[in-house]
Amino acid sequence: MKNKEKIENLFKDIITNLEDSCGGNVFDESMADTPSRVAKMWGNELLKGYHMHPQDIVKLFPNTAKNPEEIEINNIPFYSMCEHHMMPFFGRMTIKYIPGNFVLGLSKIPRVVEAYARRFQLQERLGQQIADAIVKYGKARSAEVIIEAEHTCMTARGIQAIGSMTKTRSSAYATR
Ligand SMILES: [Zn+2]
Repeated sequence: MKNKEKIENLFKDIITNLEDSCGGNVFDESMADTPSRVAKMWGNELLKGYHMHPQDIVKLFPNTAKNPEEIEINNIPFYSMCEHHMMPFFGRMTIKYIPGNFVLGLSKIPRVVEAYARRFQLQERLGQQIADAIVKYGKARSAEVIIEAEHTCMTARGIQAIGSMTKTRSSAYATR
């Protein structure tokens, strides 16, 4: 059996088992296509970052202005999946970096964010991986990533702290 079918069948099992524990007759034929839709969503969208390689995405341009100042990109949106609950966390991030001999192509930065966000993640790790990638693949002297996110595992369930935001700050420095 192909992997895709296997995953679809697993989601079918999950729905059937949930139906049992909800007392039956909860899910009707309108959900017939749900398992294949959900399987496709996980593979093609929510976890597509595992197929994206930041070292190939980053585009470098010579820092001809010899600009030693910090470059800051604000308000970059992202969506990610909490690895503890498999629930989305999402928000905005600010990326700051001090260039070395190169500057990063601006349009590629949201793609680097997506490459790491579209995986099972922790907010802290997401920020650190992006900062590390900007130093390593972007040849920056240093990088800082500030993320503000809402975790639906905290707002839609659990403590239901609706509106609460989690802020993290991660940085990386070139070793030379
Ligand atoms: Zn969580």
